[in-house]
Amino acid sequence: MKIKFAGAARTVTGSKHLITTRNGKTILLDCGLFQGEDAKRHNYNKDLGFEASEVDYCILSHAHIDHSGAIPYLVKRGFKGKIYCTKATLDLCSIMLIDSAHIQEADLQYINRARIQKELEPVEPLYTIADAEIALNQFVGLDYNKWSKINDEIEVCFTIVGHILGAGAINLKIKEEGQIHTLCYTGDIGRNQHKIIKHPESFPQADYIITEATYGNRLHDNTSTTENKLLDIVEDTCIRKKGKLIIPAFSVGRTQEIIYALDQFETQGKLPHINVYVDSPLSTNATEIMRNHPESFNQEVVNYLKIDSDPFGFNRLKYIRNVEESKALNNSNEPCIIISASGMMEGGRVVHHLRNNISDKKNTILIVGYCAPFTLGNRIMQGVETIKIYGEEIPVKADIKILTEYSAHGDYQEMIDYLSCQDPLKVKEMYLVHGNYEVQQEYREKLLEKGFKNIRIPDENSEYLI
Ligand SMILES: [Zn+2]
Repeated sequence: MKIKFAGAARTVTGSKHLITTRNGKTILLDCGLFQGEDAKRHNYNKDLGFEASEVDYCILSHAHIDHSGAIPYLVKRGFKGKIYCTKATLDLCSIMLIDSAHIQEADLQYINRARIQKELEPVEPLYTIADAEIALNQFVGLDYNKWSKINDEIEVCFTIVGHILGAGAINLKIKEEGQIHTLCYTGDIGRNQHKIIKHPESFPQADYIITEATYGNRLHDNTSTTENKLLDIVEDTCIRKKGKLIIPAFSVGRTQEIIYALDQFETQGKLPHINVYVDSPLSTNATEIMRNHPESFNQEVVNYLKIDSDPFGFNRLKYIRNVEESKALNNSNEPCIIISASGMMEGGRVVHHLRNNISDKKNTILIVGYCAPFTLGNRIMQGVETIKIYGEEIPVKADIKILTEYSAHGDYQEMIDYLSCQDPLKVKEMYLVHGNYEVQQEYREKLLEKGFKNIRIPDENSEYLI
C-alpha cells in the first residue's frame, strides 16, 4: 500500500492521511481544516491535496475541526463514500460541522459586503450549512473495540485514546495478496489525568503506526492541585473583588471540565453563593451530548454519579442560548462566573464579555486553553496593555490568570506510555504527524531510545510505499 500525508505534516492542523491499497482502494484518515496561520498558507483550504472523487472511504479519529472540518468540502467536491467514526464523534460532528459552516457563512457576509462596495466578486464559503447537512448523511457511527468490515479487504476497529469525547485510535487490518497488514493511526492522544472521559487504553499490535507529536518535547504540570487553584481564583474574583470571572473555553471538552469542577465544589459546599453562566449555544449542545454518553466516563465520574446524577448541572448554573439573555449579562453587575466560547477568543460571545469586562480591575479573565499565535487570546496571555475589539482600542485592567494544566493532548511521557503496549521490534515503520518539525525531531529521539525504529517525519504531500 501507499501512504500520502496531505496535511498536519510538520504542522499541527489540517490532518489528512491517504492510504491506497494495492487493489486501488483509497482510505482517507481524517479530513481536517488547516486553521490559523496554516489556513492562510493553504489558501484557506481550497486544495485538498488529492481528488475527492477518488477516495473510497473516510475514517475519522475525532470531532475536532482540524481533523473533521474539511469533510463537508470533501463531499461537496465529489466524495460519495461512507465516513466511519465512533458514535459520540458522530453526535459531536452533527453540531460542530454545522457550526463550522455557520462561522464561514457569517464571516463571509461581512467580507462580501466590503467586496461588493469595491465592486469585487463576492467570495464563496468553503461549504455551507446545507453542504454540512449532506455530509452528515454519509456518517456511520461504530462502537469501540469491535472490528467492522468495510469491504472484503479492509477492517476497522476504534480503541479508546482519551483526548476528547468520542476520540478513537483507528486500527486497520488490510488484506493484500493474501497477507494481512495492520496499521494504527492514533489521532490525538489524550491524558492519563483527564477529569471526565476514560483514559487511553492499549491497542492491537500494529505493523505500521501513524502518531501525533504535538507535545513531543514537553511535560505538563501535574493536575492534582488544579481544582484548588480554580477555587482560589473564583473566591478572589467573586468574593474579595466582587467582580466577574470570565473563562473563555473550547465548547467541547474544556467547558465540560470546568463545569464538572464547579459542580463538585457545589456538591462539597465549597462554591461561593454566585451564579454561573455557560454562554454559548455550541457549548450547551456539546454538554448535552456529553451527558448522553455516560459509557465514555472514567471511573471517578461513574463514582460521582452515585451522589450527583448530573455532573454538569446545579441550581445556580444556567445555560444561555438566546441572545437577549446573553446581552442581559452585560448590564448586570453581580459577581458571577461566565464560561463562554471561543477558547482562543477570536469569535463567539466571549468577545462581547471581554469588551465589557476586561477594562475593570475587579474582574478576572482566566485562560484555560491553548491560544495560537496571533489570536486575541494569545495577545491577552502575553500581557498586552491594550487590545483591539471591533475596531476599538480597550485598556486591559482586569487580572489575567492562566491555568496551564488543562490540556487535551498528552505530553511526551504520556504518549510514550500510550505506545508502550506495542512491541517496538514488531513495528516496521512509524510516522510522526501533527507537530512542529523541531518538536517532532526531539520526540523521534525519545522513541528511538524506546526501541522503535524507522521513524519518519513526513513532509506535506510526501508519499511512502509500504
Ligand atoms: Zn484534537
